[in-house]
Amino acid sequence: MLVAGVDLGGTAVNYTLLNDREEFLIVGMCEYPARSTEGPAICLQQIADGLKMAVQRTGVSLADVAVVGLDTPGPASATGVLSAKGSTNFVHSDWANYDMCANLTQVLGKPVVYLNDANAAAVWGHFALFGTSSGNTSISCIVGTGLGGGIIMDGSVIKGRKGFGGELGHVLIPYQTIPGIEGLKPECNCGRTGDLESLCSLTSIRRYLLPHFLKQYPDHELGKVGDPHKAAHRVRGMAENGDPMCRDIFRVEARALGLFFDQMINTFDPDALIVGGGVVETSAEFQRWFMEEIRIGMGVQREEQADIPIHVMPNGDTAGARGAALEALKFAHAADLPHGSQ
Ligand SMILES: [Zn+2]
Repeated sequence: MLVAGVDLGGTAVNYTLLNDREEFLIVGMCEYPARSTEGPAICLQQIADGLKMAVQRTGVSLADVAVVGLDTPGPASATGVLSAKGSTNFVHSDWANYDMCANLTQVLGKPVVYLNDANAAAVWGHFALFGTSSGNTSISCIVGTGLGGGIIMDGSVIKGRKGFGGELGHVLIPYQTIPGIEGLKPECNCGRTGDLESLCSLTSIRRYLLPHFLKQYPDHELGKVGDPHKAAHRVRGMAENGDPMCRDIFRVEARALGLFFDQMINTFDPDALIVGGGVVETSAEFQRWFMEEIRIGMGVQREEQADIPIHVMPNGDTAGARGAALEALKFAHAADLPHGSQ
């Protein structure tokens, strides 16, 4: 028995396959064009065609794939109905209120289980540390354009009543205590001022952190880049190379994560904290520096909790597909699906 993990992004679908011994049959990326802007009918056929390509490439049979795990960017309900307000990745009007799970089940003729992309990544990050059979708790933050998250307790991801469990980016933090951003009022797309995403995301760098720090570094070369998107994209690379202003920007992101993780430590007393996304797709040296800055931001911990590990999420680019596959395997085991069943 096999399960598939399908990570649907804005432009590409990434696939993985997992057997019932919890071994991934695809190591790296296995991509197919998503064509999501052309609407659900075309996109779902793309997902099906890509799945055929993935099983052929792996040398297994499509009939052996018992369950498919799907993850997409949100917002979506816990059962995979996309929000009526849509998402920046699903711009075609037919996507509003679209039931991904039910429709993909019909197209594939197999059960489909759903997670949002950050929750899927969190499932993978947790599995990489603890496997499937543990009672451990982990908190994951995935820092990219926005900030996604996931909470895993007793081996299960917390989806919540409406599918918004683990929307960690919109938790308010006491950001006024972060040094170097006095006077800054960072507003998130969600309407809050000073939540985690408003200080720890690529969007935050573009809208707030870069303009704020350029005032302190008026001669900095990024001040001469006209396009704010282009300038924001260059900050990470320059921070890795030791540029003082760009390090200041990433220090704020790390301190924001520290304040947030401190809340999680006091709420869950978790076994591990995990950071994924573009922010840690960097050299090991930069990762170490960033993790140290997070820990400084966490403030004083109880003696028993001070050694809480902070991990970098492994295999970041395949995390969504892997987490979706793990969720599918869990479903298959719970349903006790026999070998090759549909
Ligand atoms: Zn927010």
